Amino acid sequence: MPDPTGSQPITTKSGKPFEAGTRGFWKDYPNINALTDELGVADIFTDFTTSAFWSPDGLEATAPVFGDAPQWPSPLGQMLATVTNFTRLPIEDRLSIAGLLYAMLDLYRSDRIFQQYDDLDAQSLFVKLGISDRLINEFLRPTLLVGLFKPPEELSAAVTMELLYYYALAHQDSFDVRWIRSKSIAEHLFAPLSRRLISRHRLQVLGGTLATRIIVSPDSRRVSSVELQHVATNTMQVIDDADAVVLAVGVRGLKALMAQSPELSQAAPELVGAASLGSIDVVSARLWLDRAVPIAYPANVFSRFDALKGSGGTFFMLDQLQKDAQQALWGDEQPQGSVIASDFYNASAIAAMSDQEIIDRLTHDLLPIAHPEFSHARVVDSEVRRYPGSVSLFSPGSFRKRPPLETSVASIVCAGDWVRMGDQEHGAKGLCQERAYVCGLEAANSLIRRKIVNGAGHAHPVLPIRADEPQVVLGRALNKLVMDPLETLGLKLPWFNS
Ligand SMILES: Cc1cc2nc3c(=O)[nH]c(=O)nc-3n(C[C@H](O)[C@H](O)[C@H](O)COP(=O)(O)OP(=O)(O)OC[C@H]3O[C@@H](n4cnc5c(N)ncnc54)[C@H](O)[C@@H]3O)c2cc1C
Repeated sequence: MPDPTGSQPITTKSGKPFEAGTRGFWKDYPNINALTDELGVADIFTDFTTSAFWSPDGLEATAPVFGDAPQWPSPLGQMLATVTNFTRLPIEDRLSIAGLLYAMLDLYRSDRIFQQYDDLDAQSLFVKLGISDRLINEFLRPTLLVGLFKPPEELSAAVTMELLYYYALAHQDSFDVRWIRSKSIAEHLFAPLSRRLISRHRLQVLGGTLATRIIVSPDSRRVSSVELQHVATNTMQVIDDADAVVLAVGVRGLKALMAQSPELSQAAPELVGAASLGSIDVVSARLWLDRAVPIAYPANVFSRFDALKGSGGTFFMLDQLQKDAQQALWGDEQPQGSVIASDFYNASAIAAMSDQEIIDRLTHDLLPIAHPEFSHARVVDSEVRRYPGSVSLFSPGSFRKRPPLETSVASIVCAGDWVRMGDQEHGAKGLCQERAYVCGLEAANSLIRRKIVNGAGHAHPVLPIRADEPQVVLGRALNKLVMDPLETLGLKLPWFNS
């Protein structure tokens, strides 16, 4: 990015604001919440919002603000709060999720069991657990396409369960989500954070610059230098006094970096393994309409539409989420109507279409299902951007290959949502800003703890997420008590028999 500090807002060719994806902040983001408090920007969020699921048949389900309902233990609370929220899916299909709740109790029984769940794909596990086809196809599949950006047959069953537990099942209100109430995350969070780090800690930010090669010392213990390339001018620069490197790149960046760093590839083969993992394409679009469309839900998921071409899709009514900032959504122009942000995940087929075709799909095939007024609205401006290979893919068997927090080279640590944090593992899971932020803090803390950088007394606290509820703790303990001895007798859970 030309300016990763967030101080220069990203705009479209006509000067309107744009953001690569609309990102929500779920209930259990304690560290990001603490960061907003530290920066004095705790008021940047909307209230928690309702969301809706749409299929070619119309409204499928709505998610209320669970925290507003009387509180019950999980998952009873979620079931009670959504009894009447599914318009089509019969209750027997919804109850067929029971087997998955058991598997979630079993997931962390031991590292070996976790690994076995990671080797399984989520679709096979769902089928073996007796989850109904309708629940899989009408609810779990579209949920995973927008939660982990892939269909269940391409996802690790372990990471799938982690995601569903953390975002929906740990507590009645785990699914409650809020958004930025104006501008962008970059402007509201990265800009004040960067300003603080620059003024207090002499941070230097090199915008529009790629790290192209990392050279390690002959004994492979330390980084000796980092080569950089300024993208606009194609000039090279070398940093040759680096104490440490935090590799905060995704898989695409790591692949390019490792291809140019033969010494590092030899010294840290785990990074070569991580660089071999898959990644996912994303497309983001924004539409500015000539009229306000009064849809009841600001955050929405598309499910089972042929027009999605196998991708997951979401759309957000920015004019509702950012209702006190209408003018800003239109740049210098007079506001006219609704502004829609729509993201497509697992979007290779969508990305291959022209911008106009993507806009037509949205305005003709997808949005009108949610409200007929979309058919009459005229698109007065639009922007489509493609982000190939930009998101981590948690494929079956990928866990052991994900980059570790601490690598074989003492002064290189990794940070990001796809990093395994080992002893520092945190409760925030999946493709998640909270996890990415926590992992960055843990990477820095690790360098301080091991005295690789001089930061004594400056380790940053990391807040845990809320504790598991007693029925979950008890369920896990009882399951372990029963299953461990049975396994020593050679009995396996049926879904582990291939
Ligand atoms: C469309 C979309 C919607 C999402 N929705 C949500 C949501 O609702 N809630 C939520 O919590 N999370 C959401 N996420 C996930 C969240 O954005 C990610 O989990 C988070 O951004 C991961 O942060 P990261 O630092 O691990 O990686 P990234 O944000 O991918 O950052 C990696 C950075 O490294 C840079 N880079 C790569 N190679 C190099 C190189 N060689 N040199 C220098 N820089 C390099 C890249 O340009 C990139 O900026 C969403 C993601 C997308 C794409």
